[in-house]
Amino acid sequence: MKKIIAVDGPAGAGKSTVSKIVAARLGYTYIDTGAMYRAVALKCNAQCVMRNAQWTEEFVAEVVQDIEIKLDTSEKVFLDGREVTKEIRTPEVSRGASDVAKFGVVRKKLTELQREMAVQGSVIMDGRDIGTQVLPNADLKIFLTASVEERARRRFEELKEKNFAADFEQIKKEISLRDKQDSEREIAPLAKAEDAVLLDSTSLTIEQVVTEILRLAR
Ligand code: C5P
Repeated sequence: MKKIIAVDGPAGAGKSTVSKIVAARLGYTYIDTGAMYRAVALKCNAQCVMRNAQWTEEFVAEVVQDIEIKLDTSEKVFLDGREVTKEIRTPEVSRGASDVAKFGVVRKKLTELQREMAVQGSVIMDGRDIGTQVLPNADLKIFLTASVEERARRRFEELKEKNFAADFEQIKKEISLRDKQDSEREIAPLAKAEDAVLLDSTSLTIEQVVTEILRLAR
Protein backbone atom coordinates (compact mmCIF):
# COMPACT_ATOMS: atom_id res chain seq x y z
CA MET A 1 0.00 0.00 0.00
CA LYS A 2 1.25 3.49 -0.90
CA LYS A 3 1.83 5.39 2.34
CA ILE A 4 2.05 8.95 1.02
CA ILE A 5 -0.29 10.13 -1.71
CA ALA A 6 0.07 13.55 -3.38
CA VAL A 7 -2.84 15.01 -5.35
CA ASP A 8 -2.27 18.17 -7.39
CA GLY A 9 -4.33 20.02 -9.95
CA PRO A 10 -6.13 23.26 -10.79
CA ALA A 11 -8.95 24.87 -8.78
CA GLY A 12 -12.23 22.98 -8.87
CA ALA A 13 -10.91 19.71 -10.34
CA GLY A 14 -12.37 17.79 -7.37
CA LYS A 15 -9.11 17.20 -5.47
CA SER A 16 -10.50 17.76 -1.99
CA THR A 17 -13.74 15.84 -2.61
CA VAL A 18 -11.98 12.70 -3.84
CA SER A 19 -9.04 13.00 -1.43
CA LYS A 20 -11.40 13.09 1.56
CA ILE A 21 -13.16 9.93 0.37
CA VAL A 22 -9.89 8.11 -0.37
CA ALA A 23 -8.57 9.12 3.08
CA ALA A 24 -11.70 7.80 4.79
CA ARG A 25 -11.56 4.48 2.91
CA LEU A 26 -7.86 3.91 3.62
CA GLY A 27 -7.96 5.27 7.18
CA TYR A 28 -5.48 7.97 6.14
CA THR A 29 -5.18 11.60 7.23
CA TYR A 30 -6.33 14.13 4.65
CA ILE A 31 -4.30 17.36 4.46
CA ASP A 32 -5.79 20.29 2.55
CA THR A 33 -2.84 22.58 1.80
CA GLY A 34 -5.08 25.09 -0.03
CA ALA A 35 -6.77 25.75 3.33
CA MET A 36 -3.39 26.80 4.70
CA TYR A 37 -2.80 29.36 1.90
CA ARG A 38 -6.36 30.56 2.47
CA ALA A 39 -5.65 31.05 6.20
CA VAL A 40 -2.57 33.14 5.34
CA ALA A 41 -4.67 35.28 2.97
CA LEU A 42 -7.33 35.78 5.64
CA LYS A 43 -4.72 36.98 8.11
CA CYS A 44 -3.13 39.28 5.50
CA ASN A 45 -6.56 40.74 4.68
CA ALA A 46 -7.29 41.48 8.32
CA GLN A 47 -3.85 42.96 9.01
CA CYS A 48 -3.99 44.96 5.80
CA VAL A 49 -7.20 46.68 6.86
CA MET A 50 -5.98 47.22 10.43
CA ARG A 51 -2.64 48.70 9.37
CA ASN A 52 -3.73 50.23 6.07
CA ALA A 53 -0.86 48.40 4.38
CA GLN A 54 -0.19 47.02 0.90
CA TRP A 55 0.43 43.33 0.19
CA THR A 56 4.16 43.67 -0.37
CA GLU A 57 6.41 40.67 0.22
CA GLU A 58 7.83 42.47 3.26
CA PHE A 59 4.38 42.97 4.77
CA VAL A 60 3.35 39.36 4.07
CA ALA A 61 6.63 38.07 5.55
CA GLU A 62 5.88 39.89 8.79
CA VAL A 63 2.32 38.53 8.90
CA VAL A 64 3.39 34.90 8.45
CA GLN A 65 6.40 35.09 10.75
CA ASP A 66 4.56 33.78 13.82
CA ILE A 67 1.39 32.48 12.17
CA GLU A 68 -0.16 29.34 13.65
CA ILE A 69 -2.25 27.19 11.33
CA LYS A 70 -3.81 23.93 12.47
CA LEU A 71 -5.93 21.45 10.55
CA ASP A 72 -7.74 18.97 12.77
CA THR A 73 -8.95 15.51 11.82
CA SER A 74 -12.53 16.71 11.25
CA GLU A 75 -11.22 19.18 8.63
CA LYS A 76 -11.62 22.22 10.84
CA VAL A 77 -9.10 24.98 10.18
CA PHE A 78 -7.66 27.12 12.98
CA LEU A 79 -5.77 30.36 12.46
CA ASP A 80 -3.87 31.59 15.51
CA GLY A 81 -6.19 29.54 17.69
CA ARG A 82 -9.45 30.76 16.13
CA GLU A 83 -11.63 28.54 13.95
CA VAL A 84 -11.85 29.92 10.39
CA THR A 85 -13.20 26.87 8.52
CA LYS A 86 -16.05 28.75 6.84
CA GLU A 87 -14.44 32.19 6.59
CA ILE A 88 -11.67 30.93 4.31
CA ARG A 89 -14.09 29.76 1.60
CA THR A 90 -15.19 33.14 0.22
CA PRO A 91 -14.22 34.21 -3.35
CA GLU A 92 -12.23 37.10 -1.84
CA VAL A 93 -10.08 34.67 0.16
CA SER A 94 -9.69 32.39 -2.90
CA ARG A 95 -8.21 35.30 -4.82
CA GLY A 96 -6.10 36.36 -1.85
CA ALA A 97 -4.73 32.83 -1.41
CA SER A 98 -3.54 32.80 -5.00
CA ASP A 99 -1.97 36.25 -4.44
CA VAL A 100 -0.01 35.30 -1.29
CA ALA A 101 0.96 31.92 -2.79
CA LYS A 102 3.43 33.62 -5.12
CA PHE A 103 5.67 34.79 -2.28
CA GLY A 104 8.67 32.58 -1.48
CA VAL A 105 8.48 33.42 2.21
CA VAL A 106 4.92 32.04 2.42
CA ARG A 107 5.70 28.92 0.39
CA LYS A 108 8.78 28.15 2.51
CA LYS A 109 6.84 28.44 5.76
CA LEU A 110 3.88 26.35 4.58
CA THR A 111 6.06 23.74 2.85
CA GLU A 112 7.90 23.14 6.14
CA LEU A 113 4.62 22.78 8.03
CA GLN A 114 3.24 20.42 5.37
CA ARG A 115 6.33 18.19 5.44
CA GLU A 116 6.06 17.94 9.23
CA MET A 117 2.41 16.93 8.89
CA ALA A 118 3.27 14.15 6.43
CA VAL A 119 6.21 12.74 8.32
CA GLN A 120 4.24 9.92 9.98
CA GLY A 121 2.88 8.61 6.66
CA SER A 122 -0.60 7.31 5.85
CA VAL A 123 -1.52 10.70 4.44
CA ILE A 124 -3.14 12.05 1.33
CA MET A 125 -2.21 15.67 0.71
CA ASP A 126 -3.72 17.89 -1.96
CA GLY A 127 -2.54 21.18 -3.45
CA ARG A 128 -0.64 22.56 -6.43
CA ASP A 129 3.01 21.67 -5.72
CA ILE A 130 2.80 18.58 -3.52
CA GLY A 131 4.24 16.12 -6.04
CA THR A 132 6.79 18.60 -7.40
CA GLN A 133 8.03 20.42 -4.26
CA VAL A 134 6.51 19.47 -0.92
CA LEU A 135 6.68 15.67 -1.13
CA PRO A 136 8.77 14.81 -4.20
CA ASN A 137 9.25 11.29 -2.79
CA ALA A 138 5.53 10.58 -2.41
CA ASP A 139 4.67 6.94 -3.16
CA LEU A 140 1.83 7.89 -5.47
CA LYS A 141 1.30 11.16 -7.31
CA ILE A 142 -1.94 12.11 -9.02
CA PHE A 143 -2.51 15.14 -11.23
CA LEU A 144 -6.26 15.66 -11.31
CA THR A 145 -7.67 17.99 -13.89
CA ALA A 146 -10.89 18.81 -15.76
CA SER A 147 -11.95 21.35 -18.39
CA VAL A 148 -12.53 24.95 -17.22
CA GLU A 149 -16.20 24.69 -18.31
CA GLU A 150 -16.74 21.58 -16.21
CA ARG A 151 -14.94 22.95 -13.17
CA ALA A 152 -16.98 26.17 -13.34
CA ARG A 153 -20.19 24.15 -13.76
CA ARG A 154 -19.41 22.10 -10.63
CA ARG A 155 -18.66 25.21 -8.56
CA PHE A 156 -21.85 26.84 -9.86
CA GLU A 157 -23.99 23.81 -8.87
CA GLU A 158 -22.30 23.66 -5.45
CA LEU A 159 -23.10 27.34 -4.75
CA LYS A 160 -26.68 26.97 -6.01
CA GLU A 161 -27.20 23.99 -3.73
CA LYS A 162 -26.10 26.12 -0.78
CA ASN A 163 -28.48 28.87 -1.94
CA PHE A 164 -25.65 31.30 -2.65
CA ALA A 165 -25.93 33.74 -5.54
CA ALA A 166 -23.84 32.44 -8.43
CA ASP A 167 -23.00 33.72 -11.90
CA PHE A 168 -21.58 31.01 -14.17
CA GLU A 169 -19.55 33.34 -16.40
CA GLN A 170 -18.09 35.13 -13.37
CA ILE A 171 -17.09 31.81 -11.77
CA LYS A 172 -15.48 30.69 -15.03
CA LYS A 173 -13.54 33.94 -15.21
CA GLU A 174 -12.30 33.62 -11.64
CA ILE A 175 -11.23 30.00 -12.12
CA SER A 176 -9.34 30.88 -15.34
CA LEU A 177 -7.61 33.76 -13.60
CA ARG A 178 -6.52 31.53 -10.70
CA ASP A 179 -5.32 28.84 -13.17
CA LYS A 180 -3.21 31.45 -14.93
CA GLN A 181 -1.80 32.94 -11.73
CA ASP A 182 -1.07 29.52 -10.20
CA SER A 183 0.58 28.10 -13.34
CA GLU A 184 2.62 31.16 -14.26
CA ARG A 185 4.11 32.13 -10.91
CA GLU A 186 7.87 31.81 -10.61
CA ILE A 187 8.10 29.74 -7.42
CA ALA A 188 6.51 26.29 -7.26
CA PRO A 189 3.92 26.84 -10.00
CA LEU A 190 1.04 24.47 -10.52
CA ALA A 191 2.57 21.66 -12.57
CA LYS A 192 2.29 17.94 -13.09
CA ALA A 193 5.26 16.04 -11.64
CA GLU A 194 6.92 13.88 -14.28
CA ASP A 195 6.03 10.73 -12.38
CA ALA A 196 2.43 11.77 -11.60
CA VAL A 197 -0.53 9.89 -13.05
CA LEU A 198 -2.75 12.24 -15.05
CA LEU A 199 -6.48 11.85 -14.36
CA ASP A 200 -8.92 13.97 -16.35
CA SER A 201 -12.19 14.01 -14.42
CA THR A 202 -14.19 16.00 -17.02
CA SER A 203 -16.41 13.06 -17.85
CA LEU A 204 -15.81 10.89 -14.78
CA THR A 205 -17.95 10.61 -11.66
CA ILE A 206 -16.46 11.17 -8.20
CA GLU A 207 -16.74 7.43 -7.54
CA GLN A 208 -14.83 6.58 -10.73
CA VAL A 209 -11.97 8.90 -9.75
CA VAL A 210 -11.91 7.49 -6.21
CA THR A 211 -11.86 3.90 -7.52
CA GLU A 212 -8.94 4.68 -9.82
CA ILE A 213 -6.89 6.34 -7.05
CA LEU A 214 -7.60 3.41 -4.70
CA ARG A 215 -6.56 0.96 -7.42
CA LEU A 216 -3.30 2.87 -7.95
CA ALA A 217 -2.72 3.12 -4.19
CA ARG A 218 -3.06 -0.63 -3.76
O1 C5P B 1 -6.95 24.41 -3.28
P1 C5P B 1 -7.51 25.80 -3.02
O2 C5P B 1 -8.36 26.31 -4.14
O3 C5P B 1 -8.17 25.91 -1.70
O4 C5P B 1 -6.19 26.73 -2.96
C1 C5P B 1 -6.28 28.14 -2.87
C2 C5P B 1 -5.05 28.77 -3.51
O5 C5P B 1 -3.89 28.44 -2.72
C3 C5P B 1 -4.71 28.26 -4.91
O6 C5P B 1 -5.34 28.98 -5.93
C4 C5P B 1 -3.18 28.41 -4.98
O7 C5P B 1 -2.81 29.70 -5.41
C5 C5P B 1 -2.75 28.27 -3.54
N1 C5P B 1 -2.13 26.96 -3.28
C6 C5P B 1 -0.80 26.81 -3.61
N2 C5P B 1 -0.17 25.64 -3.30
C7 C5P B 1 -0.81 24.63 -2.69
C8 C5P B 1 -2.18 24.77 -2.37
C9 C5P B 1 -2.82 25.95 -2.70
O8 C5P B 1 -0.18 27.69 -4.18
N3 C5P B 1 -0.14 23.54 -2.37
